[in-house]
Amino acid sequence: MTQPSDIEIARAAKKLPIQEIGAKLGLAPKDLIPFGHDKAKIEPEALARLDDRPDGKLILVTAINPTPAGEGKTTTTVGLGDGLNRIGKKAMICIREASLGPNFGMKGGAAGGGHAQIVPMEDMNLHFTGDFHAITSAHNLLSAMIDNHIYWGNELEIDMRRVVWRRVLDMNDRALRQITASLGGVSNGFPREAGFDITVASEVMAILCLAKDLADLESRLGDMIVAYRRDRSPVYARDIGAHGAMAVLLKDAIKPNLVQTLENNPAFVHGGPFANIAHGCNSVVATRAALKLADYVVTEAGFGADLGAEKFFDIKCRKAGLTPAASVLVATIRALKMNGGVAKEDLGAENVEAVRKGCANLARHIENVKSFGVPVVVAINHFSGDSDAEIAEVQNYVKTQGTEAIICRHWAEGGAGTEELARRVAEIADSDMSHFAPLYPDEKPLFKKIEEIAKRIYRADEVIADKKIRDQLREWENQGYGNLPVCMAKTQYSFSTDPALRGAPTGHTIPVREVRLSAGAGFVVVICGEIMTMPGLPRHPAAEKICLNDAGEIEGLF
Ligand code: ADP
Ligand code: MG
Repeated sequence: MTQPSDIEIARAAKKLPIQEIGAKLGLAPKDLIPFGHDKAKIEPEALARLDDRPDGKLILVTAINPTPAGEGKTTTTVGLGDGLNRIGKKAMICIREASLGPNFGMKGGAAGGGHAQIVPMEDMNLHFTGDFHAITSAHNLLSAMIDNHIYWGNELEIDMRRVVWRRVLDMNDRALRQITASLGGVSNGFPREAGFDITVASEVMAILCLAKDLADLESRLGDMIVAYRRDRSPVYARDIGAHGAMAVLLKDAIKPNLVQTLENNPAFVHGGPFANIAHGCNSVVATRAALKLADYVVTEAGFGADLGAEKFFDIKCRKAGLTPAASVLVATIRALKMNGGVAKEDLGAENVEAVRKGCANLARHIENVKSFGVPVVVAINHFSGDSDAEIAEVQNYVKTQGTEAIICRHWAEGGAGTEELARRVAEIADSDMSHFAPLYPDEKPLFKKIEEIAKRIYRADEVIADKKIRDQLREWENQGYGNLPVCMAKTQYSFSTDPALRGAPTGHTIPVREVRLSAGAGFVVVICGEIMTMPGLPRHPAAEKICLNDAGEIEGLF
């Protein structure tokens, strides 16, 4: 029997009014700012009231290296949240908001899948509560003010060739990657090269997701570097005088969004920074609030554990003072087979040998997550074609790695399919086994931090970087940025920088192509390989199939 599509399942959901979801968390109707019947933002005063409550347990969902076969981190995050509630725990979920670009490009939403979804999934994948529009506007306000400053005489002596602040748009639009701006004569300013990134790549997005509160947000916005002078000294957003007005545009966007799962359990869906040039997880504000409101908080980090979990631990947890109690490493038989060398077309056939080979990738991630002091259990996200022998192979293998792999059927069965995982995760979280510590101390020099990650997480032999890059890092250290964590941007498909190198490669080198300072977000971005900050659409974008039916319902959105 084939399962209905994600959107059909979502449409049939028996949603509760959002006030009832709030009530489950002990929030009164006045604590909520409703957006329609099934979404609400939370009043900051309501959150401030929770300050002296104890924190719940934080559980991270991460994964093996992604393959085009799909792992299902969000689906498992939602499934585990529902599973915990089913076994009687007070649990909530924290995930990222969706970007419009990928929705209309490649098929695949951000609300989970099958019977483990967040609803309303259409809203969550489309405009939602307007946060991304606010971020886009705040970002572009600064862009406009920079060109305006230059137009009116450029008192700050900005070198027009060195404006690093670009413009953003929440769309996959490769035509705008590089543009020439201010054409058309004297009254339109000074022509210069510029370009667009997708909104999720904006530093404003990263800041919104790392800021403690509105005041912290405003001060970090002021700290962003927007351009350089001829003498290479930085010009900040504060110098342009934009940070105050940007904070005004973001005053509602920083409030977490409350929605529900198909099983009427509470979820915060808030923020959505890129997982390559930024840290790739939902907002600190939402995670902190959730920890006060629930006993267990299940959250997700983007990409595989080499990138997502590392940044979650070294950037988000370090900066926000969060202590994860347990982590779940999602694997699928299909993705393990691909890591074991099977081509996508051949995934349908049973292949225990390939599964075993692919387990090398899983083992390395288990070891890596443990090296942060966080206990880990493997969730096998069950696909209908998985064979019993393949599943047994993974379970036996994982036992030899000192942990266990639990089969999860949430995609087909909802929370009922993750009860075993939920029980185990709760047990681990309650045992206080975790002794979390980031990988490196703040004081370590920037290049040494990069080496630490490359060697201990990617298992590379060395990091190579031009003198120019090393000099740049040293200059930032001299300017007082040496204490920042590094944010690695490399392919998500491999531990190495070669996307085709699956499994558990060793002996590779990590070449650093470029470094960028996100002074407001508070990290140094280290770019290794081709990284796109404005994606393009595929030959046949998903948008070609998305439409409204006669009943006015959305068709074709997953
Ligand atoms: P990630 O968060 O790792 O990117 P998602 O949870 O968003 O992955 O899942 C990606 C896609 O895979 C979704 O469309 C989802 O419906 C689908 N999917 C997830 N788990 C399963 C499963 N067990 N069987 C079939 N499809 C699944
Ligand atoms: Mg996801």
